[in-house]
Amino acid sequence: NGFELLGLAPELVQACADLGYVQPTQVQNNVVPKAMLGEGEKRFADLMVSSQTGSGKTAAFLLPVLHTLLQQQAQAEAQERADFEQACADALARGEAAPKRPKRKDPTNPRNFKAATPGALVLCPTRELAQQVANDAIDLVRHCRGLRIANVVGGMPYQLQIAKLQNADLVVATPGRLLDLQRSQQLKLDQVQFLVVDEADRMLDLGFADDLAEVNDLTSQRRQTMMFSATFAPRIQQLAMRVMHDGGKHVQ
Ligand code: AMP
Repeated sequence: NGFELLGLAPELVQACADLGYVQPTQVQNNVVPKAMLGEGEKRFADLMVSSQTGSGKTAAFLLPVLHTLLQQQAQAEAQERADFEQACADALARGEAAPKRPKRKDPTNPRNFKAATPGALVLCPTRELAQQVANDAIDLVRHCRGLRIANVVGGMPYQLQIAKLQNADLVVATPGRLLDLQRSQQLKLDQVQFLVVDEADRMLDLGFADDLAEVNDLTSQRRQTMMFSATFAPRIQQLAMRVMHDGGKHVQ
């Protein structure tokens, strides 16, 4: 399976195989390795990708982001286990009873709802595209225990939206509803590490420039930005210059 050669986690390689993807498409081959942190690299690269619908662009940005989130989750779990074992050893040394593992609160109970703090955000110009991208992400994480995808689009009842956002790792959103939820503090964007703007040209056509600027500010701590666009008009280049280091590395 050609996805293994891209350096992706086995869970993601398996999901690609399940979907019948045998070889990465051109844009996947070009984007995935550049979007991940290479050996010894400290900084993620910002990418400006020219790509058409049907090129496989969705998996090209989802796979590297999910790969890194998966790695971080594994590291966090290992750390939690090590801390707990240390606490047990310390208690034993003091002649005390071993500590109990903290109970996880039921995330489906509205009383336990808290603001979502996703590590990754994908912005799409339309509800239909956001739904499609979220569905693709759900397909790709089928073997990743604990990675949660949430779709944030106008029209979904607010309470249902908040329930779906609980513990989301990756949020796929249209800008309007995303900023509504941010303003009502159901969603915090300061933990976003990875920002993807899909179909950036349509985003500008539909008048989302101000919303993009706001998301840009709200996620100023992020580590990586990827912009995908069918065209490279000057206004796209200007947007790229505003939101990415040096306007991003150009990738086809
Ligand atoms: P996209 O350009 O992301 O809208 O993808 C277009 C279609 O290609 C979607 O239906 C994907 O499921 C499919 N696809 C994406 N990557 C691959 C691949 N490597 N091999 C075969 N089909 C793919």
